[in-house]
Amino acid sequence: MGAAFDSISFKASLCDGCGDCMTACSTAKQGASRISIVPGAKAGTFETAICRQCGDPKCVQVCPSGALDKDGGNGVVGWDASKCVDCLLCTAGCAYGGIAVDETVARVAKCDQCDGDPACVKVCPTGALEYRKAGTIFNQYGDKEDLFVPGLSGCQGCNSELIMRHAMRKIGRNSVLATPPGCIPGMGSVGYNGKTGTKVPVFHPLLTNTASMLAGIRRYYDRIGRKDIVVMALAGDGGTSDCGFHAVSGAAERGEKVLYVCVDNEGYMNTGMQRSGTTPYGSWTSTTPVGEHMKGKTQDAKNLPLIMTAHKCRYVATASTGYMEDLYEKLDRAVEASFEGFSYLHIYSPCPTGWRVPSSKVIEACRMSVDSNFNPLWEYTNSTGLRFTHSPDNAYPVAEYVKMIGKYRHLSQDQLAHIQAKVDEQVALLKLMAAESPPPLAAHRAPTGSSTPVGAEPTQSARREIARN
Ligand code: SF4
Ligand code: SF4
Repeated sequence: MGAAFDSISFKASLCDGCGDCMTACSTAKQGASRISIVPGAKAGTFETAICRQCGDPKCVQVCPSGALDKDGGNGVVGWDASKCVDCLLCTAGCAYGGIAVDETVARVAKCDQCDGDPACVKVCPTGALEYRKAGTIFNQYGDKEDLFVPGLSGCQGCNSELIMRHAMRKIGRNSVLATPPGCIPGMGSVGYNGKTGTKVPVFHPLLTNTASMLAGIRRYYDRIGRKDIVVMALAGDGGTSDCGFHAVSGAAERGEKVLYVCVDNEGYMNTGMQRSGTTPYGSWTSTTPVGEHMKGKTQDAKNLPLIMTAHKCRYVATASTGYMEDLYEKLDRAVEASFEGFSYLHIYSPCPTGWRVPSSKVIEACRMSVDSNFNPLWEYTNSTGLRFTHSPDNAYPVAEYVKMIGKYRHLSQDQLAHIQAKVDEQVALLKLMAAESPPPLAAHRAPTGSSTPVGAEPTQSARREIARN
């Protein structure tokens, strides 16, 4: 497996041409800006010229003196001033205009990504520049053991399969898994022909009792003194928002020390694509059809993660495979919190089959759902309150997101306006919550009757040590 690297991405549609990135770069580098914002092909649009840190850099190939070289550790194409003979051939060799010239000294000015903390990205007011850090995840976790066997029977391009493989690689072997009825056991996580499809202990509760069974398992491990086991569910939205909700709500209220991951593909996808409580307004499903009398679902989706914050859970977060670095960080915090109280992670998961979205577009749909605020990314703890982990400002219109998804193909202008209004309302509410001051410290105490008495938990560092592979 090759290496992957972190990189700076540019979204032309968000750039307003302010040039703040150029100013920040020239200030940080005390010379010419390594990034240029230039007019785009259409009036009022902008493009950028910046080093892409190419895998097979042409600048390196044309450099006669060996002054340019790609670093195998961070992927940055570096420039060695002592070797450079100032021929400027590299500036002609780069098709992206990625190597600038500092006119004051007539020497190369080369982007080095500011040692992983790009000054240009930090100042961009519209979010057009973004530093994507998923390369680290690929390099660190790509070679770890996949805790689901190969050959599971998921649909082609299934995002839920991506979630479960990544989540389990991250969480590791010290875990007991519940996969209630849904796509994940449907793929074979609990096995077929007497064999399990999962390399950690796994059980298959009813749709209704997953959280209760998890609570019992955690209490068992507490009783035998095992504080190193992550007790977790990978459940669908149907089993979480509908018929399993009473168990989830009860376990959250009692402060049970479990990690509950809801993989939300917005419907009962493995049994015929019926609507669930989290199916969004206007969606086509097999039980909310599109025809003369009906144009998809007529109710808004339940905002399940927001409902969970009302339970004062130890940890609640939303995540998306469109932003893997964010998902990985949240998995860490969710696991840690699950040793202290109820931990809830809600991961949006486009279903290529049921949503009528091509497999090749699933990650793009994930990103656009976040970038349009259809699925904003945030996290909540009962000590710090709510904070966004991805800016909700400068969002794309929600029309950009829904046009990628076949289940919204029929939407009228009125329906679209309704969806946009609901998205705006949701973001306004989240912003209000984010602005609120944190609750008092008393809220951190484990409730009476919770599975482990206050003070009995191992320290965080000790737990991390034993909970990891
Ligand atoms: S200007 Fe320097 S880095 Fe660029 S091609 Fe010439 S010698 Fe190489
Ligand atoms: S990453 Fe640093 S060097 Fe590169 S363009 Fe941005 S500010 Fe300039």
